Amino acid sequence: MKSSKSIEIKYEELSPAEWFRRNKELAGLTNPTRAMYQTIREFVENSLDATESYGILPSIKIKIDYYDKSRGWVSVYVEDNGIGIPDSEIPNVFGRVFYSSKYRIRQHRGVFGLGAKMIILYAQSTTNKPIYVRSAPIGSDKIYEYVLMINTLKNEPIILERREYENKYKWHGTAVKVIIEGDWSRAKKRVEEYLKRTYMIAPYAEIILKAPDLFLCFPRVTTKLPPPPKEGLPHPKSVDVELIKHLIAKNPNLTLKEFLTEYFDGVGKQTAEAFLKWAKLDPNRRVGDLTEDEITELTTKMREFNGWRRPKADWLSPVGEELLIEGIKKVLEPEFVAAVTRKPSSYMGHPFIVEAAIAWGGKIPPSERPIVYRFANKVPLLYDEGSDVIRKVVEEIDWSVYKVKFPAPLAVIVHVCSTKIPYVSAGKEAIADVVEIEEEIMLAIREVARKLRQYITKKEKEEEIYIKYATFSMYAGEVANALAYVTGKPAEEIRRKLQELIIKKVGMPPIPEKTAEVKESSKEVAVEVKK
Ligand code: ADP
Ligand code: MG
Repeated sequence: MKSSKSIEIKYEELSPAEWFRRNKELAGLTNPTRAMYQTIREFVENSLDATESYGILPSIKIKIDYYDKSRGWVSVYVEDNGIGIPDSEIPNVFGRVFYSSKYRIRQHRGVFGLGAKMIILYAQSTTNKPIYVRSAPIGSDKIYEYVLMINTLKNEPIILERREYENKYKWHGTAVKVIIEGDWSRAKKRVEEYLKRTYMIAPYAEIILKAPDLFLCFPRVTTKLPPPPKEGLPHPKSVDVELIKHLIAKNPNLTLKEFLTEYFDGVGKQTAEAFLKWAKLDPNRRVGDLTEDEITELTTKMREFNGWRRPKADWLSPVGEELLIEGIKKVLEPEFVAAVTRKPSSYMGHPFIVEAAIAWGGKIPPSERPIVYRFANKVPLLYDEGSDVIRKVVEEIDWSVYKVKFPAPLAVIVHVCSTKIPYVSAGKEAIADVVEIEEEIMLAIREVARKLRQYITKKEKEEEIYIKYATFSMYAGEVANALAYVTGKPAEEIRRKLQELIIKKVGMPPIPEKTAEVKESSKEVAVEVKK
């Protein structure tokens, strides 16, 4: 039935701050436990970005206190020794959603320009308390202090207080404090695990946490830092129409050939010429004169062309095999560990590197399936394991090929670093299954798994020898006595000779009996043999 009455619809605009305030779950702020964890995680990530990306050995202090226990209010304080934030930028970086120094082609933990703001929005919505910031850039004569909130309707900072002090001791870094509704007692385990894993992938960091009922201190294991990533240019395969338009606007007078060599990663004159010939485009055409259709066509062709050089990996900062092994040894205390850093690869023009390690035995508890430690740009991923491509690959592997029989004390560690990690959501907890990344993860795990197989094989052989040795030794005494009886020679001498013979036969160096006992597994088997 048609009605002649007009329908009144109200249209309105929503600021990004307001939108994210309403959709906090997207950034992992689903409940007080998760919020507690997410708060620490976002601030620690910022601290690590502000230190190691600039060649500073990170020192991070975290303090958690009950602010109002009856209401479940907790204060979280995080301090670092990083590069600090300039006075004029402090209100913006904490008060505007989508304001960041990390919208660059370079490996960072932060990607969206969102993390700190989400926490502030959460604090505002739950306790209505502002954020407290203290910061001093390197070499600054002053320390700046701000108390801020976000005007969600305008996506603007509200400066409640501002102070400055003389920086007598030339301190540099940033400290932040928020008061949130958080469930510390429930989040404790996760936070501990998160910090442990952070430390595992960044053993050059020093992290201290003080909480009402927990004190954690992760001392620096090494002073070696991976080289900081450089800042890069977009790869021609990763472009879209908007990006091309932005770049054209920078300098419309360039010719197509100049445009390609100037703004893209790895495009020299020859490559540019080859591409333009292939795409049937005029190298001398002024980019400012391109029509909309031509821009679209250029973009499509750039994505299709297969003659580009591979994206450079200079914008990445993998941990490296040596450091990875150091971190894993320190945290997991395994009996065996092997690691590999694969060669750079790329997907849709974004460079990435996969690193994998396997840790086996020692303090790793046996479990029915491999324990997986996932990392993306050095950030440990704790939630949403089920939707992560790393878990998927680990599940696809037939571990029996590598002599692993479950339950087994097996941990698989995978680190993906990229200028663009394809996260499944804004909470940054799972990596999507991009085919190229999936393949590299598979190859990396296989490579270290082969080393594990070698190790297990070697150990099995050793054990076999021990068993033989133990079995022969067991009867040596009896045989010696019998021979002494028959030959009339001293039993002790015969036993010694027999022992020498066994050692020669079994092919192992003489070992004191005590050492043989230490080998638990061979002892057990030896006992079985006796029965
Ligand atoms: P993102 O980390 O994704 O950029 P955030 O909202 O977490 O987004 O942070 C915004 C910006 O604030 C960062 O890009 C960085 O420039 C600055 N910042 C935040 N925390 C720190 C810190 N501890 N030290 C230095 N700069 C920081
Ligand atoms: Mg951040």
